[in-house]
Amino acid sequence: MDLGGRTVSVLGAGASGLAASELLLSRGARVTLWDERPAAQLGAEALIGRGVAVRGGTPLGDVDLGRPDLVVVSPGVPLRLSSIVRARESGVPVWGEIELAARFLPPGAAVLGVTGTNGKSTTTALLGALCEAGGLAPFVGGNLGTPLSRAVLEPARRMYVLELSSFQLEGMETVRVHGAALLNLTPDHLDRYDGMEDYAAAKARIFRNQQPGDVAVVNADDPWTLRMAADARGRRFGFTLQPELATPEGLVGLAGPVEGGFQLGVAGVTLRLANRALRGAHNLANAMAASLLAFHAGVQPVRLQVGLDGFPGLPHRLESVRTLDGVEWVNDSKATNVDAALTALAAFPPGQRLWLIAGGKGKGAPYRPLAEASVGKVAGLLTVGQDAALLESEFSAVCPVHACETLDRAVARARTLARPGEVVLLSPACASFDQFKNFEHRGATFRALVEALG
Ligand code: ADP
Repeated sequence: MDLGGRTVSVLGAGASGLAASELLLSRGARVTLWDERPAAQLGAEALIGRGVAVRGGTPLGDVDLGRPDLVVVSPGVPLRLSSIVRARESGVPVWGEIELAARFLPPGAAVLGVTGTNGKSTTTALLGALCEAGGLAPFVGGNLGTPLSRAVLEPARRMYVLELSSFQLEGMETVRVHGAALLNLTPDHLDRYDGMEDYAAAKARIFRNQQPGDVAVVNADDPWTLRMAADARGRRFGFTLQPELATPEGLVGLAGPVEGGFQLGVAGVTLRLANRALRGAHNLANAMAASLLAFHAGVQPVRLQVGLDGFPGLPHRLESVRTLDGVEWVNDSKATNVDAALTALAAFPPGQRLWLIAGGKGKGAPYRPLAEASVGKVAGLLTVGQDAALLESEFSAVCPVHACETLDRAVARARTLARPGEVVLLSPACASFDQFKNFEHRGATFRALVEALG
């Protein structure tokens, strides 16, 4: 579509919507940008100065979009809003922000995409690092970091490595993802979908425009992902955490664990996984998925190894902040629910003694499973935030509980309790909003407190 002179409504003025507006402007479109927040709070002054009409303060479902030539939807905005449905019904094309941006990718560029319920950001960042180590100089972004609409305004790259949320995938029609990984599928966002089938259908779109010769990577331990790739036209590869699993039907190769690392399901390719930033079985799965995609995108095994060894990890996800007097301090502030905290505990070997800092704004899930997983591993629990008492009632039979209320007190207390060889782990199992702006703020606060310890 030639956008010159066309009228385009952009819904949602987050990072993606702002970037999409800029891209549209650069192509000569006449842009109206809508958001529920008041126009003055959107940080869109520069766009207004360049002629974008900004409309704030109205719920997006209620707005009358009129008859634009095109509607572009930010990933945070549900496609089922009545305003969008009405536009569609009257024949207006509706594109997600990635759909828009992908139309301006340089010819011949390779697109690699990662989706799944958990592990998207880690796997995308790792995939980017592996491709970088392979000399492919990729753009890395999408749902994480820089929106694709901004990337296509910058100098062309040969490769685009994208994290794709189900919301972004929903708004994609024609985008061909040459190498696509679907990590796992567990109930999430069911508030936005009619059920698991509906949610799965959104995620399965990552494979939809693949061509023979493209690569689809799925989790062989997750029947949902196997089923969702069943119609993919690309070559299908799997990864598993089970050392002896036979390659499931329909897959042409299977990566799996070996002592100290994993094999890639390709003759002779075995990689070491010794990087502390990738500890835990969940990160082994992420590493296998990323390595499969990178290998089939042309990165040589020796370069994969360099990328795996050098990956710094993402902040707030089992991030090793510091080792002080033999005690390792680990920031897992991203663990905003019980499942994520369970994943963190499981990432430490049996026999590793941990001091767990947990609590915050709970999400209503029971803490019993966390207490059970802590038996024999957690030397003591230090509680903070709103759900402290609930956590204490589950943990009191398992280990000593120290009610600390705030993170600074928990850190100070842990400093006096932890012995050399032990780990202090912030993995709150709760959202942060009772005491912090977001999990990043909580993690940064923890890091600063730990770095200040003498
Ligand atoms: P996302 O971008 O999908 O939210 P992240 O890479 O940010 O994923 O990881 C978020 C959390 O999800 C991690 O802290 C960890 O608890 C959990 N996690 C990461 N990878 C996996 C995986 N492969 N399977 C299950 N849980 C995972």
